[in-house]
Amino acid sequence: MRIDLHTHSLASDGTDSPAEVMAQAARAGLDVIGLTDHDSAAGWAEASEAAAATGVTLVPGMEISTRCEGAGVHLLAYLPDPEYPPLRAELRRILDGRSGRLAAMLTQLQAAGIDITEADVMTRVGGAPAIGRPHIADVLVAKGLVSDRAEAFREWLGSGRPGYAARYACPTRTMIRTVTESGGAAVIAHPWGRASRHVLDRDTLASFQVDGLVGIEVDHQDHGPADRDELRDIATDLDLVATGASDFHGGGKVDHDLGCNLTAPAQLERLLDHAAANAGRSGRDVAKVVRP
Ligand code: AMP
Ligand code: MN
Ligand code: MN
Ligand code: MN
Repeated sequence: MRIDLHTHSLASDGTDSPAEVMAQAARAGLDVIGLTDHDSAAGWAEASEAAAATGVTLVPGMEISTRCEGAGVHLLAYLPDPEYPPLRAELRRILDGRSGRLAAMLTQLQAAGIDITEADVMTRVGGAPAIGRPHIADVLVAKGLVSDRAEAFREWLGSGRPGYAARYACPTRTMIRTVTESGGAAVIAHPWGRASRHVLDRDTLASFQVDGLVGIEVDHQDHGPADRDELRDIATDLDLVATGASDFHGGGKVDHDLGCNLTAPAQLERLLDHAAANAGRSGRDVAKVVRP
C-alpha cells in the first residue's frame, strides 16, 4: 500500500487540477493520497469525483498557515469539518490576508522596477482561493525575469527580499485546537523545514499534544536523513503519528514527485483512528475518506 498524504493542486499553488493530481497519483502507483491545498477545501469535491475512475483513495485535508514564536508553521488538518464556524472564520482571515499582502508585494516589486500588475497575477491564480507567492513567481518566470519559482523566491519573494511582505497567520496552538474541535486530526507539516526548524523542539511538540496534535510529518524533502531519524524517535517517544509525503506541487516544485516519500499503512490507520475519535467528540459533520 503506497500512501502520500501531502499534495497541492490548482486549488492553491500546485499546477495540476485536483482530478489531474488523482490521475497522476494512479500513474505513480499510489493507493492513497491526501489533498492538502493551502488554507482551503476547494479541491476536495473534484478530487472526490476522481477517486472511482483513478482507483485512488482520497484523504481530504488542508495545509494551514500558522505562526509560532515568529516562525511560519504549516499545520496539516486531515478530515476536519471545514464549515465549523471558528475554522471557517480563521481560514477566511488567512485568505483575506493573502489578498491584502498581494497588493503590498506588487507595490514593492513595482518600486523595484518590475512591470507587474494584479491582472498579471490573476491570470496565474485561476480560481484558487489561496493566492500565494508561487503565483507571483510564475508571472516573473513568464516575463523572463527569472528561470523558475525557486529563483523567484531567492531573488524577489523570499523573506527579506525586495518583494516580500508578511501576512496574517494565527498561533499554531490555537489552530491545533480549532482543527481538533472541528473533528479533524492535526499534524505538523515538515516541522524542521526552513522556517520552523528552530521553534519546534521536542518539548514544544509535546506541549502541542495537550492541544490535540496527533502527528508530525517525518519523511519530507526538507528533512535530511539525520533529521528524519531524530523526528521519528521523537514521534515514537511521544506516541505521535509519523507521516511521510511528497508535498507535490506539480511543475511548481522540483524534487517533490508524487510518492517520493510515503506514509506507512499502520501510521495512516492511527491517523484515521485519531480523526474518528475527534469527529465523535466534536459531533460535527466531518469530511470522509473517499474510497474508489
Ligand atoms: P505563501 O503561502 O504565499 O507564503 O508562499 C509559500 C509557498 O511558496 C509555499 O507553500 C511553497 O509552495 C512555495 N515556496 C516557498 N519557498 C519556495 C522556493 N524557494 N521555491 C519554490 N517555491 C517555494
Ligand atoms: Mn505551496
Ligand atoms: Mn508547507
Ligand atoms: Mn505543502
